[in-house]
Amino acid sequence: MPLTNCETHGDVSCLEMCNHLYSNLEKGIFSSFYNLPVYKIRMCKACFVKYKVEKIIDSIKIEKGSIELKKKQEKGIYQIAPDYHFEIKILEDKHPEILREIQHIYTELNKESGFECVKCIDKIQLDYARENDFELPFEPFENTIIHNGNKDINKLEKILEKQVKMKGVHLEQSTNSYEMQRSYQVWAGSVKFPLTIKIYGFTKEEEQNKLLDLIEDFFKNISKKQRKIIFYESLNWIHTELENGMKRKTRDKEKMISEITIK
Ligand SMILES: [Zn+2]
Ligand SMILES: [Zn+2]
Repeated sequence: MPLTNCETHGDVSCLEMCNHLYSNLEKGIFSSFYNLPVYKIRMCKACFVKYKVEKIIDSIKIEKGSIELKKKQEKGIYQIAPDYHFEIKILEDKHPEILREIQHIYTELNKESGFECVKCIDKIQLDYARENDFELPFEPFENTIIHNGNKDINKLEKILEKQVKMKGVHLEQSTNSYEMQRSYQVWAGSVKFPLTIKIYGFTKEEEQNKLLDLIEDFFKNISKKQRKIIFYESLNWIHTELENGMKRKTRDKEKMISEITIK
C-alpha cells in the first residue's frame, strides 16, 4: 500500500480508487466499492459494471497454494516478493489475455484516480452512517490518540523502552547485532481501533501486571485514554539460506497471550 502524510493521522497507508469514489469521499459520502484483482484499486459499482470486472473475477481464481508453489520456484530476492508479483506470473502462464485486460482496466481507472488516507476513509464512513441513521459500520473509538507523530506516543515509548530493556540474543558471527526476544511497539489508533501497545516476551502474569500499572499511570495525565494492550510470546526468528548463499532472517508469526482494551 502506498503511504501518504495525512494532517490528522501522520504517515499512514492510503488507498487508490476511481475518481467517482474519490469525489464522493470528498463530499463526505461513503459508497460501496469493489476491488480490481491483482492491481489493487477500488472502484464504484458503475466502473465495476462498465469494465465487466465480475466476469474477470469469476474466471480467475488464484489460490494460495499456487502462489506458494510459484514462490518455491523463484530464486534469490524474488522469493520474498509480494503476492501480486506471483499472481501476475500465474496469470501470464494461464490466462495472459485476462492479465492484459486487468492491466488495461487499471490504466483506465488510474488516469483519474484519487488516493485517500485509510484512517480518513474510516472516519468518513462512520460520519456518513451517523448522518443517514445507518447501522454503525464498527464500534467507534473517539477518545484515542490518532496521530502517529503525537508527542505522548513518544513519551510512552521511552517509558516502555526502560522496562522492556530489549533482552536480546547475540547473532552468530556478529559482535553488535542482537535478535530481540523482548520488545514493544506503539501504534496510533483511528476511529476504528484504539491506540495499540504490543508487548513481546513478557509471559509471566506478574511482569505483565507491572507493565500494565506503568501504562495505567502514564494515561492518568493523558486526556485521550482509549487503548489496547496486547501481550505476545517472545519474538522468534527464522533463519533461511537462499540458493545464492544470501542469508535471510524473518520474524516468526506472533503468538498472542492476552489482550486488554480500555474504552
Ligand atoms: Zn467509478
Ligand atoms: Zn487521515
